[in-house]
Amino acid sequence: MKVFRTISDLAIPRHATVGFVPTMGAFHEGHLSLMRKAKEECEVCVVSLFVNPTQFAAGEDFERYPRDEARDLHLAESAGADVVFAPSVEEMYTGSTTRVVVDGISERWEGSYRPGHFEGVATVVCKLFNIVRPDIAYFGLKDYQQCRVVQQMVTDLHLGVRLSFEPTLREADGLAMSSRNAYLDPQLRRLAPELYRQLLGAASATLGGVSVEAAVASASANLTRSGFEVQYLACVDPISLEPVDRARPDSRLIVAAKLGTTRLIDNIALAEAQ
Ligand code: AMP
Repeated sequence: MKVFRTISDLAIPRHATVGFVPTMGAFHEGHLSLMRKAKEECEVCVVSLFVNPTQFAAGEDFERYPRDEARDLHLAESAGADVVFAPSVEEMYTGSTTRVVVDGISERWEGSYRPGHFEGVATVVCKLFNIVRPDIAYFGLKDYQQCRVVQQMVTDLHLGVRLSFEPTLREADGLAMSSRNAYLDPQLRRLAPELYRQLLGAASATLGGVSVEAAVASASANLTRSGFEVQYLACVDPISLEPVDRARPDSRLIVAAKLGTTRLIDNIALAEAQ
């Protein structure tokens, strides 16, 4: 596995199909599953490791975001990565003034709680696509709205990258794997899987005939009672992310809630509760 820190040094074999996994590091099985998939489907697996400052809103956890490059490089190699691109902030942004704004899909949900977040994501992903020039890029459905924003950007800007969205990997108790789970103290960590349990509960209630409104309200109240500060919990159209009144198996339940100071997000398709 080769590690590159500058765009000018980056050398990726161009005769082969290139699979690309953009990440911010602090790897867990969710990240590694994307790398394995990329390696399975493409000849070359490229991983970027870059804690992107522009996707953190003011007052968020950019400074304390977990960083352990030596561990990450070891794990990436074991998952089949051939190339890791780990640039500095200066390498990515010095002199750079262009921003990519994906209107509409970026505005709701995460966008309203994290101002500028998706502009930062779209900008860095667009830059990374142009730097790496992958055939296929792999993203986790854990960040469902991010998948939709990237998909819209690729379509609108004719970026010519195939996108592959992969299932959320979970801990044994159902908690979606996330680098931010490391922030949870043992007591909050024990509470955290309730987020997924309530999504499953709301999904099966809706599929069983309970109205979307009642199922969502009940799950949200249960989370609040358990100690979560719910920011949003909604049943949405999988493409537009607009709320729906009538559920379909592919409708998406999306949630963001804080446990203490840690913000957790999760989502499922209703059909996952069947
Ligand atoms: P991050 O390092 O958090 O930016 O995540 C890098 C990629 O890993 C993104 O495409 C995420 O959606 C994906 N990812 C994060 N957590 C998970 C998970 N639990 N399962 C699958 N993919 C994930």
